[in-house]
Amino acid sequence: MIRLQEVTKRFGDNTVLDRLNFSVDAGKHVTLIGPSGSGKTTILRLLMTLNKPDEGTITVDGDQLFPAPEKQVREIRKKIGMVFQQFNLFPNMKVLRNITEAPVTVLGMSKDEAEQRARDLLDQVGLADKCDAYPSQLSGGQQQRVAIARALAMRPQVLLLDEVTSALDPELVAGVLDVLRDIAHSTDITMLCVTHEMNFARDISDEILMFDSGRVIESGHPDKMFNDPEHERTRDFLSAVL
Ligand code: ADP
Ligand code: MG
Repeated sequence: MIRLQEVTKRFGDNTVLDRLNFSVDAGKHVTLIGPSGSGKTTILRLLMTLNKPDEGTITVDGDQLFPAPEKQVREIRKKIGMVFQQFNLFPNMKVLRNITEAPVTVLGMSKDEAEQRARDLLDQVGLADKCDAYPSQLSGGQQQRVAIARALAMRPQVLLLDEVTSALDPELVAGVLDVLRDIAHSTDITMLCVTHEMNFARDISDEILMFDSGRVIESGHPDKMFNDPEHERTRDFLSAVL
């Protein structure tokens, strides 16, 4: 579903991704781990087309996302949803409209259908009673669950999650992770996830990629990666975060 081939990304003379290769099969859940500053967010931002690679190719569902003409990029982008560390809700819109806005304006969904779907999604994330609240009236955990519902409203084939619980107070983390576990287990959405929540990563992931200095240095099933990693840098990283 996702394939990066020889992807290089530089910021000035800082080479953040160095001829990176990896792929995620349809329906699989892959978690990227690695030290801060190692380029994890950059990978997700390339997939969201918020940044462009300097070299290499990126394909999504068999179609080239980079390099590609703008029209093709827009079509592929519709297949991809992202949830950020900072929830990035529209502060001037009520919760329901936060969720219906993109389906109506980007997908051309009718307002009624978009609202029905938004209510179903809010129910799924445990916020059926918050349709008419503004984001500022919600806790961080609730805002993040709205952001997840908003991403799902676009019926993405791929969901990108970038440290979605890192900005939350500790007591709010579990509720958000429960929602994501439910999505991971009950849908066939392909997930590429960056998280420091290692128990969560172990629960949902088909594969863990250990990422350092712009490359995947080790990858494997969570049991192998967490119990018996091969690389010293993976061992060091895991002993620091576990
Ligand atoms: P991670 O998510 O693994 O912590 P990032 O992908 O955010 O790492 O960042 C990787 C590197 O790229 C860092 O050295 C960071 O400073 C640099 N970087 C990220 N975005 C930009 C930018 N827009 N301009 C310049 N440097 C950037
Ligand atoms: Mg990051």
